[in-house]
Amino acid sequence: MSETNETGSIIWTNAIFLFITPVLAVAAAAWHIATQPFAWAPIIAAIVLYFVAGMSITAAYHRLFSHRSYKASPVVKAIFAVTGASAWQNSIVEWASDHRRHHLYVDTDDDPYNAHRGFWYSHILWICTRGRYHGDLTNVEDLLNDPICAWQHRHYWKISIAFNVLVPVTLGWLTGDILSMVIWAGLIRVVVVHHTTFLINSWAHMFGSQPYSDHNTARDSWWLAFLTHGEGYHNYHHAFETDYRNGRSWYDWDPSKWLISVMEWVGLARDLRRVPDDMVLRRRFEEGRSRFVDDLEEWGQAWEAWKDEVTAGAQDALGKHLLSAEERIDTALRDLRKKRAAWQKAIRDNQPRDTIRSMRKACRNAQRSIADAMSEWETMMSQYTLSMHPQFA
Ligand SMILES: [Zn+2]
Ligand SMILES: [Zn+2]
Repeated sequence: MSETNETGSIIWTNAIFLFITPVLAVAAAAWHIATQPFAWAPIIAAIVLYFVAGMSITAAYHRLFSHRSYKASPVVKAIFAVTGASAWQNSIVEWASDHRRHHLYVDTDDDPYNAHRGFWYSHILWICTRGRYHGDLTNVEDLLNDPICAWQHRHYWKISIAFNVLVPVTLGWLTGDILSMVIWAGLIRVVVVHHTTFLINSWAHMFGSQPYSDHNTARDSWWLAFLTHGEGYHNYHHAFETDYRNGRSWYDWDPSKWLISVMEWVGLARDLRRVPDDMVLRRRFEEGRSRFVDDLEEWGQAWEAWKDEVTAGAQDALGKHLLSAEERIDTALRDLRKKRAAWQKAIRDNQPRDTIRSMRKACRNAQRSIADAMSEWETMMSQYTLSMHPQFA
């Protein structure tokens, strides 16, 4: 019962560590830039280790262990267990336990980083305070039964300290400047990885777009995806949390999904889970439509005024245009679903390669034309709602 009494109390080791490291990093960077000659080696090492630590969090802690969005070979898991510890974000088991609760109870008091408690709470203060589930690992028994995760959990501090001291010191020794390497590839890199990851819990639950769902605070932010190896597409992620991708389109910056695909290609990962495109587009379509209906209701008064201003013919034309666009999308989505099912069946039935390829191409084309029709429809909706907004009425 002592745990319950401690809820809300400060975890001093975390608090001191998380407040001192950014101050030290800024001071060390300023001192180093002002007094030491510039060298590329520590900067390059810092960037490389930023990717190594950051992508161990995104591709492994998050997508592999917390969400089980793919399966990986024991070698990959063991490597990630070591490199992930270098991010200094706790063991896989504890990270995943918090994260699974975040998804399950998002935006409530049971969400460990509930964004409704403010930017700084969800960014960093939650790590410095004992939450109501502090120490409760009942939701990660699968990971505790995994020998690699259990080993990393037992030896987490030894692994993280060893990595974060040995790697920068060795690199510094090899390049002839240990201090610069410790400052840039050690201290500053750890702080940058911390705060970019933390922005997913704070910023990505406050600012950005919500194309897939507004039932929780998660938002998409393309620039944050650049800093977090793809995790910025957080609205998509909360809508489809088991998908191994966070950036769904091929052009969305998501190096974590590319790494997972490459691992699959070389046989180190398998069973990648991906939400079918027709489901994703359907969700986006329905979300847009329900938001549009909400806008219409909210602007009910304006609607009355608008009707007086615009001729009945113009209203009808616009309304019909919108409805027919919706019908077209709806039909096309159903068509894509059928095409996709046929393509999957052809794969299962071992149809000739050419047939499968042309079916896949048909799916791609259908998907592309739906995406075009949807963006046209979204523009039309925004024109429609804009024209009804009180300031135009
Ligand atoms: Zn989230
Ligand atoms: Zn997640």
